Amino acid sequence: MPESSTGLEEQLKKYFGFDQFRGLQKKVITSLLNKEDVFVIMPTGGGKSLCYQLPALMQEGTAIVVSPLIALMKNQVDAIRGISDHDGVAHVLNSSLSKTDIQQVKDDISNGITKLLYVAPESLTKEEYVDFLKGEKISFLAVDEAHCISEWGHDFRPEYRNLRKIIDRIDEGIPIIGLTATATPKVQEDILKNLQISNATTYQASFNRPNLYYEVRPKTSQVDADITRFIKQHEGKSGIVYCLSRKRVEELAQVLQVNGIDAVPYHAGLDAKTRVLHQDKFLMENCDVVVATIAFGMGIDKPDVRFVIHHDIPKSIESYYQETGRAGRDGGEGHCLAYYSYKDIEKLEKFMAGKPIAEQEIGHALLQEMVGYAETSMSRRQFILHYFGEEFDPATGDGGDMDDNMRNPKPQKEAVEEVKKLIHVIESAGQRYKAKDIVNIIIGKSNAMISSHKLDQQDFFGSGKDKEPTYWMALIRQILVARYIKKDIESYGTLRLLKEGEEFLKNGKSFMMTEDHTYPENASTTVIAAGQGGAVDAALVKMLKELRKKVGAQKNVPPYVVFQDP
Ligand code: ADP
Ligand code: MG
Repeated sequence: MPESSTGLEEQLKKYFGFDQFRGLQKKVITSLLNKEDVFVIMPTGGGKSLCYQLPALMQEGTAIVVSPLIALMKNQVDAIRGISDHDGVAHVLNSSLSKTDIQQVKDDISNGITKLLYVAPESLTKEEYVDFLKGEKISFLAVDEAHCISEWGHDFRPEYRNLRKIIDRIDEGIPIIGLTATATPKVQEDILKNLQISNATTYQASFNRPNLYYEVRPKTSQVDADITRFIKQHEGKSGIVYCLSRKRVEELAQVLQVNGIDAVPYHAGLDAKTRVLHQDKFLMENCDVVVATIAFGMGIDKPDVRFVIHHDIPKSIESYYQETGRAGRDGGEGHCLAYYSYKDIEKLEKFMAGKPIAEQEIGHALLQEMVGYAETSMSRRQFILHYFGEEFDPATGDGGDMDDNMRNPKPQKEAVEEVKKLIHVIESAGQRYKAKDIVNIIIGKSNAMISSHKLDQQDFFGSGKDKEPTYWMALIRQILVARYIKKDIESYGTLRLLKEGEEFLKNGKSFMMTEDHTYPENASTTVIAAGQGGAVDAALVKMLKELRKKVGAQKNVPPYVVFQDP
C-alpha cells in the first residue's frame, strides 16, 4: 500500500515534525490502524509513545492510555498539547481533578475533541468513569509500561491486572496495544495472557545498545573513593549514580560535593519541591551528577547522560538494563559501571524474607541472574541480550568488544576436581545445608551444629582445607549460576543438587572457574577517613567544602575523598 504509506509519513510530519519513522514504528502504527491487537517490545528511548499517539491523533474517537506514573502522563499531555491548537486534545484523568475539571474532560471527549485520554489504572476502575466511557467512541486502548502486569517484571503494579475486566465493560471489541521495554519471555507471556491478546501482532526490536560500555568492579570499602575518581576522570560530563538506600544517596552526594563535583541527591524521602528542583537542575545542565535511588529516572529523557554508576547492584537484570539504558541515548558514549559484592545480594535476599514463597522464588531467580551477570567472564552484552532471548555473537555483533570482559579477559582456572569435591560434600551431607555451612564443612571448621550432626566425623570434613573459604564461596556461586545446584527457598536456602550437577559428578571433564579482574589503584588520590562508622562528620564536610572553594582554582590539588570507616 504505497499510497497509505506516504500518507503516514505526511501525518508524522504534520503532527510531530519528524521526517521519518524509527525502527518498527510504522509497522506498529499500520497494524493498529488495521484494528489489530498489537504488542510492542522496544527498548527505552526507542519511541514507543509515538506508536499510539500518532494513530490516536489520526483517528476518530478517544484513545485511552494507561500509564503507571502521573508525572509521565503529564509530560506526554503537555507535549501533545504543544503540537495542537486545542488543549482538550489530551487529558489526564486522575484523583486530583475538581468536579469542573472532570466535566471539562467529559465534554471534550463527548465533543470528539479529545484524542488521548491518559489514566492511571486505579482511576480507570472508578464506576463513574467506566460508566461514562462506555457511552463514548473509544478508538483503542494503549497499555504503556505493560510489564507492570507481571510479577516477573521490575515494576509490578497489581492494579494493572484489572485492566481486562474494565476493557470488557467499556467495549470488549476495541483494539489493544501493549508496550514495554522488558523483553523476558516470562513477562511477555504474562502480558499477553492478562490482557487476553494472545493473537496480538508482536513487534520486538533488538535490545542491543552498541554504544554502551558495560563494566563491573568489585565493591570494596574504597567504593566512594573509586566512584569519585571515576567521575573526576569524566569531569563536566553528565551522569547518574544509583544507590539502594536514601541514606547512602545523601552520604555519597555529600562526598562528591566535598570533592568539587556538582552533584545533587534525589530520592522519594525529599519533599516534592526539592525533588523537582534537583531533577530540573540535572535536566537543565546546572549540575553534572545526580545521586539517586531508583525513584529517579522513569521517563527521564536526557540524551547526553555519559555514565550510569550502580553503587549497589539492582535486583534484576531488567532493572539494570532499564537504569543503564538512560546513558547514551543520543548514540554517543555511555559508560555503565556497577559495583558488586555478594554481600549486597544477601542484603537484597534479606529484604525478601517474609514475603510469600512464590514471590521469594521469583526474587531469588532474578537475583541469581544478576549474580551470573556480575560474575560472568563472557561478553556482558551477550549475557544481557541472551537473558532477553536475543542471540548475540561478540565476534561479529555491534558493540561486541564494549565491555570489561572482552577488553580485559578475566583469568580462568581449571576447577573440575574442586567442583566435584563440592558436589560430593553437598550430596553426602544430605542436601540440607546452606552455602555457609557447606563451606565450613569443606574447610574443616566445626561448630555446634556441625558437631551435633557428627559431620566432623565424616571423611569429607576438611577435604578442601587447602583453599580459602572465599574460594569455596565463589565456586558455589559459579555452580549455582551453571545450574549444577540450586538454593531451595522453602527450606531457607539449603543447597540442593540438580540433574546437571549429578551428571557432572559422574562425567564432568572441565569447569573453568573465573577469577576477578584486578584494578590499578590511582596513587594521586588523598583519602581522608571521616567519623567512626556512621555518617560523614558534618563539621568536617563544611570545612572541606570551604577549603575546596579556596584552593579549587589552583591546579595540582589532589582530590580529597571522604569516606566512612568500613
Ligand atoms: P520510549 O517510550 O520507547 O522509551 P519515547 O516514546 O519516550 O521512548 O521516545 C523517546 C524519544 O524519541 C522522544 O524524545 C521522542 O520524541 C523521540 N522520537 C520518537 N520517534 C521519533 C521519530 N520517528 N523521529 C525522531 N524522534 C523520535
Ligand atoms: Mg515510554
